[in-house]
Amino acid sequence: MTLLYQYELLGFVLGLLFGSFLNVCISRLPARRSIVKPRSHCSACGHHIRWIDNLPVLSWMMLRGRCRDCKARISWRYPAVELLTGLWFLRFFSDTYDIFAGTANTDLLLWIWWGQHWTLLLSQFILGFLLIGLMVMDWQTQRLPDAFTLTGIGIGFLLTCVQAFFLAPGEGDIVLDTTHQLRLSSPGSFASQGNVFLTGTEALIMGRFAAIAGAALILLTVRWGYKALRKRDGMGLGDVKLLAMIAAFLGFRETLLALFVAVLAASIYGILLLARRQASGNSKLPLGSFLAAGGLFSALWGPRIVEWYVSLLR
Ligand SMILES: [Zn+2]
Repeated sequence: MTLLYQYELLGFVLGLLFGSFLNVCISRLPARRSIVKPRSHCSACGHHIRWIDNLPVLSWMMLRGRCRDCKARISWRYPAVELLTGLWFLRFFSDTYDIFAGTANTDLLLWIWWGQHWTLLLSQFILGFLLIGLMVMDWQTQRLPDAFTLTGIGIGFLLTCVQAFFLAPGEGDIVLDTTHQLRLSSPGSFASQGNVFLTGTEALIMGRFAAIAGAALILLTVRWGYKALRKRDGMGLGDVKLLAMIAAFLGFRETLLALFVAVLAASIYGILLLARRQASGNSKLPLGSFLAAGGLFSALWGPRIVEWYVSLLR
C-alpha cells in the first residue's frame, strides 16, 4: 500500500467517525434534544447500543439493518450518511497529500503554504459535515436547525479571516491601473507597493461579508415576492440562512452556482412528481435539501466551473 492510499484511508476513517456523530445530530437536533446525553439507544426498544454495534457502516451490515435486541429495522440513512461523510473527507484529504508527503513545489513561504491548505481543508470538512446533515434533516423533518445554519455562517466567516491571515504578501490585492488618473493607496497596507485599492486581506474579508449579505438578500427577495403573489409563505427563513452559510464558506459566485443547481434539480424533481401525480401545485418541496446538495456540488466542482464560465465571457 503506497503512502497516498494510507493517507486516503485515514481521511475515509476520519470521515466515517464524523458521519457517525452527524447521525446523532440528525436524529436529535430537529427535535431539539441534546446531542450529548443520553447515550445512543435503539429508538424502538430503548436498549443501549453496544460499541460493537456502533461501528460506522460495518455494524449496520453485520446486523443486516436490524436492532440486535428487538429486531426493529434501522434506517439505511445511518450507513448512507456515514459513507457519504467518509467519501467527502477522503476526497479533500487526498488533495493535501502533496504537502503531507513534502513533495509540494512552491515559491511561497512554507508556513503560508501550510496555513492556506490546512485552513481550506478544515473549511471543506466542516462545510461537508454541515451540508450533508442539513440535506438529510430537511428531507426528513422539513427543519434546518440554527445550530447548523447560523453556527455555520459564523464558522465560515471566521475561517475566511484565518484564510486572509495566511495570504502571501501582495496576494489578492486589487490594484488600480497605473495609467489611471486616480492614485490611491490603502492606508493599512505596508506590504504592497503602488496603486493598491484594496489589499488582499480587505478584498477577501469584505467580499465574503458582501457575499453572505447578498445570498441572504436574494432569497429574502424571492420569499417576499412569493408571499406578495400567493399570500402565503413559500420558503422558510432556514433556506435563507442555509444559502448565506454556503456563501460564508465558498464566496458569491460559487453560491450562485449552488442556487442554480438546486433550483434546476428541485424543478426536475417537482415535474417528475407532478407527472406521476404524486404531487399537486400546492405541494411543498424540501428546498433546503436541494440547496444543501447544490452547495456540495459547488464545493466539489464550483471553482473549476466558475473559472470556465468567466473565460467564456472574456
Ligand atoms: Zn431495539
